[in-house]
Amino acid sequence: MKLKFKEPAPITDHSNPLESMMERFDEAAKILGLDESTYNALKSPEKAVIVSLPVTMDNGKVQVFQGYRVIHSSKLGPSKGGVRYSMGVNLDEVKALAAWMTWKCAVVGIPYGGGKGGIQCDPREMSQGELERLTRAFVGAMRDVIGPERDIPAPDMGTNPQTMAWMMDEYSKLSGQASPAVVTGKPLVLGGSLGRVEATGRGVMVSARSAMAKLKMNPSESTCAVQGFGNVGSISAKLIERQGVTIVAISDISGAYYNPDGLDIEEAIKYVTKHKSLEGYKAGKMISNDELLELDVDILVPAALENQITEENASRIKAKLIVEGANGPTASTADDILEQNGIMVVPDILANAGGVSVSYFEWVQNRLGYFWTEERVNRRADRVMKQAFDNVYKVARKHKCSMRTAAYIVSIKKVADTSSLRGIF
Ligand code: NAD
Repeated sequence: MKLKFKEPAPITDHSNPLESMMERFDEAAKILGLDESTYNALKSPEKAVIVSLPVTMDNGKVQVFQGYRVIHSSKLGPSKGGVRYSMGVNLDEVKALAAWMTWKCAVVGIPYGGGKGGIQCDPREMSQGELERLTRAFVGAMRDVIGPERDIPAPDMGTNPQTMAWMMDEYSKLSGQASPAVVTGKPLVLGGSLGRVEATGRGVMVSARSAMAKLKMNPSESTCAVQGFGNVGSISAKLIERQGVTIVAISDISGAYYNPDGLDIEEAIKYVTKHKSLEGYKAGKMISNDELLELDVDILVPAALENQITEENASRIKAKLIVEGANGPTASTADDILEQNGIMVVPDILANAGGVSVSYFEWVQNRLGYFWTEERVNRRADRVMKQAFDNVYKVARKHKCSMRTAAYIVSIKKVADTSSLRGIF
């Protein structure tokens, strides 16, 4: 279908996952026949706030940091998204990541819009005291932007549950009332949710299970390779293994480890807990991370970095099913190659949305003032992920498009319809 308006300016950097995402947005917008006004409204963030944060460092000098918070959309509900501490943080990146959150929340049907924040800093070079003062300064400067009913931060690169504890404390002090629901990803004792740590990997498993059923793959006759063995990769591997699948390869920054007879993932997790990485792990033959991607397996779970499957290696991928645990592991230039080769890709905005779904449950529990058992959290999260998968699958069949394009169609349509009902302009 043709766009009803002028083509957007061509995107040149295909290796940039965020630009890859916008290309996919454009493709879905074309299929939906989105009108120009809605297209432009959905592409632009609702709000972008930049603050300067003077912080007294341990040496007594004051250093000024730049902080950002972008609300891409609040049409479906308060905006949701992490706060990143990294030297690479800049307004464009935060804008793109905020949009990504809008699509991710919409595709799984949780009542949130999308937002993202960041501070340009190097957290590894800062003391705990400096990080605490910086975090409190950020919350003070953003006190009118964030809020349990407005915009809800969470951890991202360079931030963690401790950062969320400081944010929650500072916001509660400033608002004069206990406000645990202002952030998610808090430590359990401060109102975090059971099940949050495993939530993303669990959602990857539910996506893999749903896709295997559609592809009529028998789990006990299927093999899987997992790239990345951190939070997402190790939990995905553990839970996919529990479905009866043989995990034949895992990897981390130290390299990849392959055993065609299968690896014992519980043992591998114990190994990493003890040794901090898979380095020296002997249960599998060492191969390169590139070789892992091209193994003759049924399922591939990229759960480490962006931009791993590219135009260059896509044609050598043998898996029938790719479940994207990481954000942006596939470059947009690889999409067509994978599709032509009949590989089903469960896209990142769907496959790894289990994390934000349980963040939503954390917020719900905080507002209820009542905590659920882990079993209840998991059951509800599994339902959210399964329904989202089935919905995207149905749309993919209807439009004869990939699961990725279908996921964007679902989310863009949802935000566009809501905007139209509420009135955009
Ligand atoms: P993590 O830091 O816990 O783990 C990252 C893993 O990747 C580590 O095992 C690391 O050694 C490995 N790795 C790094 N470089 C590698 C390389 N070159 N080759 C192979 N492995 C390499 O991070 P995480 O939380 O598991 O996140 C992984 C991905 O999932 C990221 O893209 C993240 O944005 C995405 N994600 C995470 C969550 C979450 O809840 N943690 C939610 C959604 C998406």
